[in-house]
Amino acid sequence: MTRPWATLLERVTRPEYIGENRCLPCTVLNVAVATVAAVAVGAAVPVAGIVLFVVAIGAIWLRGYLVPGTPSLTKRYLPSRMLDWFGKSSEPTPIAELQIDRYLKETGIVIEDPVADDLVLEPTFERAWRRECAAVGVEHADRDALAELVGLPPSELEIRWHGDAFVAVVEGERIGQWESRSAFVADVASARLLEERVESWDQLSLAQRSEVLGALRLFLERCPTCDGTVNFEQAVVESCCRQYDVVAATCEECNDRLLEAGV
Ligand SMILES: [Zn+2]
Repeated sequence: MTRPWATLLERVTRPEYIGENRCLPCTVLNVAVATVAAVAVGAAVPVAGIVLFVVAIGAIWLRGYLVPGTPSLTKRYLPSRMLDWFGKSSEPTPIAELQIDRYLKETGIVIEDPVADDLVLEPTFERAWRRECAAVGVEHADRDALAELVGLPPSELEIRWHGDAFVAVVEGERIGQWESRSAFVADVASARLLEERVESWDQLSLAQRSEVLGALRLFLERCPTCDGTVNFEQAVVESCCRQYDVVAATCEECNDRLLEAGV
């Protein structure tokens, strides 16, 4: 039996803008537009104002926006400070935070290189990391590796791919995201080594661990999955409703994005 309303609903719905993809600033802006329009119309014809408001809210709920092109409008006109307030600017994690630096130095994972006048990976860790990456890369049991990384049973985890990137989901909630499988392989491998070598690793929260693992990816010179050269560059990334500058690390060979961090 066909249900015309279900087909209609499907046609109107825009999954790319709702659910976990819903953009809060765009939604708020659209609700504000709907409210202003409904009040204006309602002042003349009260019933029409109410109908307009109900239809508009329904459209925002199903489609994520009311005014076509809101994402780019928001990007252009909504002040940065307001987007910050919605947490939109905190999307890229700031790199090289002092505490992470200190943690990596204190645990001996990175050391000062007086010649390069920079921090580098401790050589035995670097070699072990590359070996471990090669091992993880061919395991092809990503859900088991993810379970090990986040400390949850594999049956509770779901991996959702968005192009090369993927998010890890538990009971409908995002618990982590990776730019590519190569980035994930790097994290699984380094987490295994840190677990082995660093006593205080167990005491870090999941969020702190993920920051440490992400920071370690700054030191990658070869791709964890194909051994290609890793290129670092400044890039401009577009999210739904804003642009931001990032440092991006990409593998020259397989094109996997290994890191994207706000600057
Ligand atoms: Zn690669």
